[in-house]
Amino acid sequence: MRPESWQPPFCPNPNCRHHTAVGGVWPFKRSGAYRRQTAPYRIRRFQCRECRRCFSTQTFSVTYWMKKPGILPEVFRQTTSCAAHRQIAHNLGVAPDTVDRAVGRLGRHCLLAHLAVWGQKPPCGAVAIDGLETFEWSQFFPFHANVAVEVESGFFSFFTDSELRRRGRMTDWQRRRRQELEDQLGRPDPRAVVRGISELLGVVLAGVDAVVIRSDDHPAYRGPIRRSTCHIRHEVTSSKRRRDGDNALFEVNLLDLWIRHGSANHKRETIAWSKRRQRAMERLAIVLVDRNYLRSRWKKRGGPTPGMLRGVIDRKLSVEEVLAARRFPDQFNLPCPWDRYYRGAVETQALSVNRRHVLKYAF
Ligand SMILES: [Zn+2]
Repeated sequence: MRPESWQPPFCPNPNCRHHTAVGGVWPFKRSGAYRRQTAPYRIRRFQCRECRRCFSTQTFSVTYWMKKPGILPEVFRQTTSCAAHRQIAHNLGVAPDTVDRAVGRLGRHCLLAHLAVWGQKPPCGAVAIDGLETFEWSQFFPFHANVAVEVESGFFSFFTDSELRRRGRMTDWQRRRRQELEDQLGRPDPRAVVRGISELLGVVLAGVDAVVIRSDDHPAYRGPIRRSTCHIRHEVTSSKRRRDGDNALFEVNLLDLWIRHGSANHKRETIAWSKRRQRAMERLAIVLVDRNYLRSRWKKRGGPTPGMLRGVIDRKLSVEEVLAARRFPDQFNLPCPWDRYYRGAVETQALSVNRRHVLKYAF
């Protein structure tokens, strides 16, 4: 609960000039209070004198407009502990839809929370990139989660997504079914991996003159690396090489393992696979914040987190600290494709309706 002396730091109305001018003096007045059915029961209200928008202490809380505000930290913990949405719903005694929406809210919050802490700082040392292969809806719709990790600190800085065409061993029925689906929905963009890696490098290498990129021998990585405006030394390690601590791609292999270890939707042979790529990206944002700021880099208890080794935080954060204040998207310059993830604009081909995030007041 916010103390009585708490003052709103800026106007929450994105169309007001006092929304982005954080830290300056802006005219607001107190405007009474209202009572609600969950703690804290008394919520103070305010009004902006400039745009006349009324708001409350809740407007600055991540639980803004939630009927069950208490579940958010627990949904965060269970999402990163390999629980599926229905398992979380059962554990918390809420409807599965409630968990779906809470995960979406946490994912959007984590996208902004990471950008706020990281600040798109140029990488320290080499960067390893890789595509984690998983799928949405059914195994006929595989996709890559393209990830970038800084080798020296293990800092998971950014991710993008790329749809793929199903390949590998298939039965005759599976081959026919793939053809039927492609006739109906069209073939996935064959350049999606190139585009996903270009977007990834565009953000991670912004403002960098020279860098070392480590990756496996995926042919789609060469083009974006060659075309980058940054001078890149590309170190290629065969994906067939033994994946141990001596492998040059150890950090990114470890991150892949970490994502699969902590995310129910990326486990092998699971029934909790992602039904939409959009939701998989939101869950990945939660994993990113958890990995960088809440977990020790090594097994040693109390050891530094990747964010501490990277020098963007000075101590390990708790879930409550991450969720302490609502983040407002208009105060960020959301890099592509994270603006798509925030708006829920990633479309699942197999679905006729892809619900987007279009709420006007809640986020
Ligand atoms: Zn205002």
